[in-house]
Amino acid sequence: MRKKIGVLFRKTRKTTYRFERLQTCKHCHTYHVLWETHCEECGREYQPIRKLSAAVTRRYVQTRFLLLALLVCLAVLCAKTAAQLAAACGVGLLLLGLFVMIQKKYGSYERDAQFMSYLTQEQAAIRQALVHHLEDVGLEVKAGNIKEAYEKTREIAHFIDSDTIKIRKIMFLNHFILRKDMELELDTLVPSTYDKDFVAYLREVVKVQPSLVKKSVLEYVRRYKSYILLQENGEQLIGQVLGAALRMKPYVEQYQDLFVEFIDYIPKDRLLRLAKMIRTHRRAGWELLYAATKKRIDTQYGFDPDFAGVL
Ligand SMILES: [Zn+2]
Repeated sequence: MRKKIGVLFRKTRKTTYRFERLQTCKHCHTYHVLWETHCEECGREYQPIRKLSAAVTRRYVQTRFLLLALLVCLAVLCAKTAAQLAAACGVGLLLLGLFVMIQKKYGSYERDAQFMSYLTQEQAAIRQALVHHLEDVGLEVKAGNIKEAYEKTREIAHFIDSDTIKIRKIMFLNHFILRKDMELELDTLVPSTYDKDFVAYLREVVKVQPSLVKKSVLEYVRRYKSYILLQENGEQLIGQVLGAALRMKPYVEQYQDLFVEFIDYIPKDRLLRLAKMIRTHRRAGWELLYAATKKRIDTQYGFDPDFAGVL
């Protein structure tokens, strides 16, 4: 087995929207999704994409306001009598006032709509930036910088959801010693088909950060159970994943079949927790799980004081 290395990952940015990760160089019309602050071509500072789009929208609103003002001026100039002039001024002011009011109230919707169409227009340039970053990852791998390769792929993966990217990330991650304090991922890595490297990663990650086990992982385990069982200690791995899933009652409910089947492989402390859960949440539909848990406790921990009177 390859020797694993200890690493300290670069902190990732948390954003509400994916597009907030996009930076752009207005001068070169290029995009950037990594952590550089200045354009590698021209050296100018990257701008957040929203800022650029806001400027586009502002120009658009200003143009419309000017057009409206021009129309009002025309109406005023065309007025022949004092009454017409008063009407033109009155209506004109009312229209301009209305325009400002509508902009204030609904401007944000318009900004969003504009921004979406702006993003659509920019798709090709954004894709080109991602391709460029992927080439960069290739160079990092060649140079043996697996940590950088992973960190870059992690950023790119926010924009490309494919098995190829996931499997690459998994392969990189399998080079590292995983720790509790690391910012690790799991459900963003679940591939659509069976992957041995993913299972190897799952085995490591479940030991250090069991809270990462979520529905997608449980689905994966259920779907590829027969493949996992072909691996060395496959049963133990499933038992550990289930032990981690125990923290959420709905998971126990939804994956009861797995719990029943692999009850003998759930680690002792987790089994105790499961037994306590079953005791406090006895409900219809849990009979099989109750019976399986009780059977294992009776046969294996019959004289263990930890389990005395639990079930
Ligand atoms: Zn530039």
